[in-house]
Amino acid sequence: MLRALGLTCALASMSAMADAPKNIIFFIGDGMGPAYTSAYRYYVADSDVDRVTPTVFDRLLAGSASTFPHDDTVVTDSAASATALATGVKSYNGAIGVDADKGPLDSVLVKAKQAGWQTGVISTSQVNHATPASFVAHAQSRKDYQEIAEQFYSRRIDGKPLVDVILGGGQKYFSLEEQGLGSKMVDWGYQYVRSFDALPELTQTPAMGLFADVGLDYAIDAEQPLRLSKMLDTALRLFENKSDPFFLMVEGSQIDWCGHGNDIACAMAEMTDFAAALELAEAYAKRHGDTLVVYTADHSTGGLTLGNKGNYRWDAKVVKQVDASLMVINESIEGLSGDALTKALAKNIAFEFSDNERFALESLKNHSDSRYWLLVEFVSRRSHTGWTTKGHDAIDVPVGAIGPMSDKFVGYHDNIELGQSLIDLVN
Ligand SMILES: [Zn+2]
Repeated sequence: MLRALGLTCALASMSAMADAPKNIIFFIGDGMGPAYTSAYRYYVADSDVDRVTPTVFDRLLAGSASTFPHDDTVVTDSAASATALATGVKSYNGAIGVDADKGPLDSVLVKAKQAGWQTGVISTSQVNHATPASFVAHAQSRKDYQEIAEQFYSRRIDGKPLVDVILGGGQKYFSLEEQGLGSKMVDWGYQYVRSFDALPELTQTPAMGLFADVGLDYAIDAEQPLRLSKMLDTALRLFENKSDPFFLMVEGSQIDWCGHGNDIACAMAEMTDFAAALELAEAYAKRHGDTLVVYTADHSTGGLTLGNKGNYRWDAKVVKQVDASLMVINESIEGLSGDALTKALAKNIAFEFSDNERFALESLKNHSDSRYWLLVEFVSRRSHTGWTTKGHDAIDVPVGAIGPMSDKFVGYHDNIELGQSLIDLVN
């Protein structure tokens, strides 16, 4: 009996080994609560058909996760939540890879590197921003940007780089001046490019591409709106040069930033970018069969909801009529009135403004901040988009997965359990 039990255990662990993924791609939509994935579904649906096509978020959906931080506030920030997702441990808002007592924690990326995996981080924010930082660095405060950036260079495993592929924003922190951090990394062997057009010049790891001083432009304002797929494609190409497994974190960083600005068209463009990259990973997982792809969000932002003020409708068509961020539109109408204002608005917004609305914008022509929130109100009112806050909220976030061991992510989990599951898979 005992022998039979021993045999069963041995077989079970052998089959667990056989089913373990070779590679892991972990997607984090910053701020992407469930209202964002719902909105995106209606946003991309063909409005002439009364059904909606499932999106990549729907196809991969496995469950949901709670996001609360270590304290009793329930509402997390990106640092505490990314620390939970990266290390499997709850911490305080602002914490980067440290626990509630400010002690350092090793992330899944560090553990993957220790186990001989290739590693990478991709973000549309600066790469030393809270989410990617929590996978790479330890800092008591997310605001210690320079200290976090330095750790991309100073944290080494067996004398080798911790992160093999680094793609995103943040040139400011990785300068190519003499003694600049970027120069030090190049001297150490990193290939380093600073434009999307130069991505093909990255031919081997370690490699980094930083495409903006700080964060990248919003997708809705960018010449290259599908920047995450471009970066992901490059990372996969570089990883495939070697047979070692890889762990890659991909963050859609600015879904959150559009959410803070209560800018629905901006958020949908970020979702389009994030979805395209997730689709690329889904296709990769299907093609290779050995790659686990997981997506989730760190929290939701803005208290976004579809339908507001008693109206039983949400109008994606209105959202599509706005083709720049409200931040850029607001700058474009600074100081304008009359025909000049009408013309400037028409450049980026296809719906007509009423006389009252134009008059209200004119009266705030030199009050940038109030005028911004008036633009938000006009778009929200027409599209019936609801927002409850300019900050984060505590609603649970979606979790999806495809590939080996994707059933680990089915059902409800707390965010630290997602981190713990990933750590189990790289150990
Ligand atoms: Zn945020």
